[in-house]
Amino acid sequence: MREALFYDKLEGGRVHCTLCALDCRIRSGGRGACGVRVNHEGTLYTLVDDRVVARHIDPIEKKPLFHFLPDHTSYSIGTVGCNFRCLHCQNFSISQEPRLGARAAKGREPAVVCPSLEDLQAAVPGQWVTPAGLVEDALATGCRSIAYTYNEPTIFYELALDTARLARDAGLANVFVTNGAITAAPLERIAPVLDAANIDLKNFDPAAHQRMTGAALAPVLDSIHRYHRLGIWIEVTTLVVPGYNDAEDQLRALAGFLSDLDPDIPWHVTRFHPTYRLRDRPATPVETLRRAREIGREAGLRFVYTGNVPGEDGENTCCPACGAELIRRFGLGVRWNRLDGGRCPKCRTEIPGVFDR
Ligand code: SF4
Repeated sequence: MREALFYDKLEGGRVHCTLCALDCRIRSGGRGACGVRVNHEGTLYTLVDDRVVARHIDPIEKKPLFHFLPDHTSYSIGTVGCNFRCLHCQNFSISQEPRLGARAAKGREPAVVCPSLEDLQAAVPGQWVTPAGLVEDALATGCRSIAYTYNEPTIFYELALDTARLARDAGLANVFVTNGAITAAPLERIAPVLDAANIDLKNFDPAAHQRMTGAALAPVLDSIHRYHRLGIWIEVTTLVVPGYNDAEDQLRALAGFLSDLDPDIPWHVTRFHPTYRLRDRPATPVETLRRAREIGREAGLRFVYTGNVPGEDGENTCCPACGAELIRRFGLGVRWNRLDGGRCPKCRTEIPGVFDR
């Protein structure tokens, strides 16, 4: 059982976790909002430092990262738990597992008055892993990076940090797929070994963001700035949900924020399909995504991609200077890549991102 990083001890056995913007104060015997950090007698422990519940080899395009070593496979891992409560979570069975599992067990099993730390950790689903074993597997399967994904990687920070350091030594890149709620100090600590991140920006209206995710918007915006300032390659994804963030002013606000920060940040506007607690909403009309792409480009963004709609022009990369098509994609696959050392072969414009140069 591993003591957590980034927390302070308070009076009366309480602790204050400072790892993410949820900023939990946790009484002895309690857990943080993520469900996987537990206060045991005044010390905060992580329950997910040695187990993953999902492990797959994915194309990097699935994260999505389109300007980060295109067409490579990424060894992708995730645990249970999340600090957000998104009503439209596509991975809710693992992200909300600590909460859903506890609810399902309630009333069926005799109450455990004071479970030991070992019992708590044993109840966490997943395969036992070590950072060295993960890196070894990633290398053996020919992956070029490790992606910390599926649930929020901040909440399995200790496992991610140790693995990322070993991965970097072994020549692998490290990628976060994140909701952006990590605080400054942990991000600064992992930044030297973190190569890229796809950050979700779900809404630009604070009240709507809180309603849909259970978390505040402002720390996410701060975090996007921080990732960028630290020199980590970032791409941003907005899942466009009908009736939630598909209004023109919403999309303009999102695009304007990114464009003001850096017009070279790729923005992915992706299609929503009914899921979890939003099964009553329709899938996003393709026309809405096309309009969102136009809005992004009108705001000055040079790379705006539509996602979850295979076959759309919006998933290809074009040179912002001469318009030449540089990377043709279909869904999560790359059909061809004409980049020449990261440059347009026609007009020699350098394309922002991380490419084999
Ligand atoms: S990681 Fe975030 S949600 Fe989890 S205990 Fe810490 S502050 Fe709370």
